Amino acid sequence: MDLKVGDVYKCPEGHKASIVWISENEKVIAVKCPYEHFDKIAKVPIKTRHKQPYRNYLTEERKIYAKDVVFLIEI
Ligand SMILES: [Zn+2]
Repeated sequence: MDLKVGDVYKCPEGHKASIVWISENEKVIAVKCPYEHFDKIAKVPIKTRHKQPYRNYLTEERKIYAKDVVFLIEI
């Protein structure tokens, strides 16, 4: 393969990402994807119109997505 930094390469989820790093033996590359990727589930407080005592805050689980994730890919 003839890859170089800056080339377009698929991220693990199939988006068009760009190569930001290639290992010396050219067996591993790092690609940075500008699309959103699922990162984690976090508990966030639900905002309500009225102020409530802290213990009464309700939380919900929300999916957190991250952008510009860098993946290491073995080629
Ligand atoms: Zn992606």
